[in-house]
Amino acid sequence: MQDLRIGYGYDVHQLAEGEELWLGGILVPSSFGAVGHSDADVLLHVICDALFGARAMGDIGAHFPDTDPAYKGIDSKILLRETVAKVCTEGWGVVNVDATVCLERPKLRPHIDTMRACIADILGIPVDRVGVKATTTERLGFVGTGEGISAHAAVLLGR
Ligand code: MG
Repeated sequence: MQDLRIGYGYDVHQLAEGEELWLGGILVPSSFGAVGHSDADVLLHVICDALFGARAMGDIGAHFPDTDPAYKGIDSKILLRETVAKVCTEGWGVVNVDATVCLERPKLRPHIDTMRACIADILGIPVDRVGVKATTTERLGFVGTGEGISAHAAVLLGR
């Protein structure tokens, strides 16, 4: 593998009572969830953005506009699959992914390995190449007050 590219993604969604909390392709049990045009899966969104970024192909909003009714309520696993199909051309493949979700509660630890398996399956890479971490922000800022959720991801592509 001679050619490597790194990509980075960042995303924020508002949280609200009564919404579903989709993260890493799975539904996390919670009385509140993220608000968005799609299923608002902030973790899958940052991985999409990191993938697009690695090849300087713009961002998730450019490829899947939130003004397009086709993407209303869409399962973000479909968006990630389409992103991989767009990015992994001309010999490019995903080497690894590492991501952090910032959320005050609920605790994500019991769900992390299920998320990793789901992401690895979509990316077509072994699960030991998918890192997912979770952190609170020590009750500081919009994450700390429970107003929102954010996530960061880095990906490495190679060919
Ligand atoms: Mg998003």
